[in-house]
Amino acid sequence: MGSRVLITGASRGIGAATARLFAREGWDVAINYNRSRDEAMELAAGLSGVSIQADVSDPEQAERLVREAEEALGPLDAVVCNAGVALPQQLLTDTTADQWRRVMSVDLDGVFHTLQAAIPGLVRRKAGAIVTVSSMWGVTGGSCEVPYSAAKAGVIGLTRALAKELGPSHIRVNCVAPGVVDTGMNGHLTRWELAALGEETPLCRIGRPEEIAQAILFLASERASYITGQVLRVDGGMII
Ligand code: NAP
Repeated sequence: MGSRVLITGASRGIGAATARLFAREGWDVAINYNRSRDEAMELAAGLSGVSIQADVSDPEQAERLVREAEEALGPLDAVVCNAGVALPQQLLTDTTADQWRRVMSVDLDGVFHTLQAAIPGLVRRKAGAIVTVSSMWGVTGGSCEVPYSAAKAGVIGLTRALAKELGPSHIRVNCVAPGVVDTGMNGHLTRWELAALGEETPLCRIGRPEEIAQAILFLASERASYITGQVLRVDGGMII
């Protein structure tokens, strides 16, 4: 029997690339989306997977997401908490409380809600892997990205603490912290700005979603069987 994974925010970008890679490696894939229904349905059809609409910032929807994923695929072997949003770059003093809440509710609360729903099944089977998706800004902090940096630092703290909590249940919990990646999240940047970010990077370019997906697959797979509580930076050397 193959392995089964739920990936949140898999309709586009890094999540979609991750879904494609897991499916290519023989996993059954549940593709969560919030708004991009057509993209998610098309992707799921191409991968013989299932697409499930749910806003992970809402605990009831996250609970339904996990339930529907398990009904469709069977018990989950891995959960990838990838769904995220970012704000336009701005000073903390220009950030509204609503903007702060929005980033926190998706990028941090969404991980909490999804895992709270998924963990009981993993613990019952005493097996499984969780991979969270943070950001290099969660590691180092980004000027004019305070809410996003705070949420992503929270994801790292959650990952490390949960790895200790779930280790005795043989469940591994790890995190991938991408650098700048060519997805819709950076769609507001001009070609010139993206090129400049690439030049700042030791590997002289920004990342591709497929490169983040490879790290996520590694951490979810048996190849990482003795790795837990780690943050794997996949950022072309932006933070060394
Ligand atoms: P993206 O292309 O903008 O895709 C974001 C994904 O998250 C979409 O599938 C979107 O679904 C989903 N999503 C957003 N809000 C959601 C919600 N409330 N409930 C469920 N799904 C939701 O972004 P990306 O670049 O692939 O980012 C993926 C992850 O990597 C994020 O956590 C992001 O913070 C992180 N990251 C990205 C970069 C980068 O440079 N791109 C760098 C570091 C970290 P719908 O479209 O269906 O609403």
